[in-house]
Amino acid sequence: GPAHVRRIAPYQAGRPISEVAREFGLDEANIVKLASNENPLGMPESSRRAIEAALADLGRYPDSNGFELKAAIAAKYDVPMDWITLGNGSNDILELAAHALVAPGESIVYSQYSFAVYPLATQGVGARGIEVPSLNYGHDIPAMGRAIEADTKLVFIANPNNPTGTFVPAAELEAFLAQVPPQVVVVLDEAYNEYLAAELQYDSIAWVRRYPNLLVSRTMSKAYGLAGLRVGFAIAQPQLTDLLNRVRQPFNVNSLAQAAAIAALNDREFLERSAQINAAGYRQLTAGFDALGLEYVPSYGNFVLVKVGADDGAGSRVNLALLKQGIIVRPVNGYGLPQWLRISIGLPEENAAFLTALKQALAA
Ligand code: PMP
Repeated sequence: GPAHVRRIAPYQAGRPISEVAREFGLDEANIVKLASNENPLGMPESSRRAIEAALADLGRYPDSNGFELKAAIAAKYDVPMDWITLGNGSNDILELAAHALVAPGESIVYSQYSFAVYPLATQGVGARGIEVPSLNYGHDIPAMGRAIEADTKLVFIANPNNPTGTFVPAAELEAFLAQVPPQVVVVLDEAYNEYLAAELQYDSIAWVRRYPNLLVSRTMSKAYGLAGLRVGFAIAQPQLTDLLNRVRQPFNVNSLAQAAAIAALNDREFLERSAQINAAGYRQLTAGFDALGLEYVPSYGNFVLVKVGADDGAGSRVNLALLKQGIIVRPVNGYGLPQWLRISIGLPEENAAFLTALKQALAA
């Protein structure tokens, strides 16, 4: 294979329950997985019903253009349908952006301690990554602006950020967008947007109307509870949307996923419940960290990054001690954070089981 592919370090996902059960000789039913920022409520009931209805049509291809789903997104966000790109998860959107907009050798700007798929998408198209040092575990937006070079085609910003949970206030993003050169596309990845408290919400779709070089990416994997079905979408002006759709696989979102996503998009009650459970779980976890004297990064997402020791073996050591107790969390060594673990916020009893196991792991 080509050198740029051989250099890629594969994405490390949260470990599956069945695999951990087998390796540690545990009963699957007793395992708590807080490793992939999934919705602890699971899939909405409305989506389950939509999937059952859609089963009848599985002999047919999915709607390649996702007409009904795009219509639902268009209605919800008040944008025309030709402003929407559907993705097989929002990871697909991120890759489509790199494929559509960046040639080998050109550069892509992203932050240190930001989402792992940004460097992967960069390497996948043989582009050059410009990683901007983080500020307080979050994006240093002014420094990202200064890092843009003549051959930069794309900037990735995750807001809130994964794995650190940090948040860039709207005013800072707006100032950034106003000064980015028009030939540089900004991908504003809002995978965790639905968890933001009302007073922090901002209207990124209004910015899309103003900036032809802005693409807002959303996912149905987190607050909407559909991670296993793989649905994400992008909103951008038609010229940019057209480019992404040229490199999109024709049937990239399957029929069940389209049906479930339409139901979930319109299920406000589920979304509100998800945000409430998350807010309560955040208070529970951070109170536990405070009690244990552990440092954590204040988070705006559905997860918390916590420092579990002062040496570079701490993350791996505590992770193993947790696995032995049936708790799966996410080590972030690959992000350059070997003293930290990322904990997805679960149901109250899952958070409690994790905190009990953590206390034991730290004492071991
Ligand atoms: N962006 C960010 C910032 C994420 O944390 C994630 C999930 N890990 C994604 C995108 C991709 O999620 P999905 O492909 O499930 O939409």
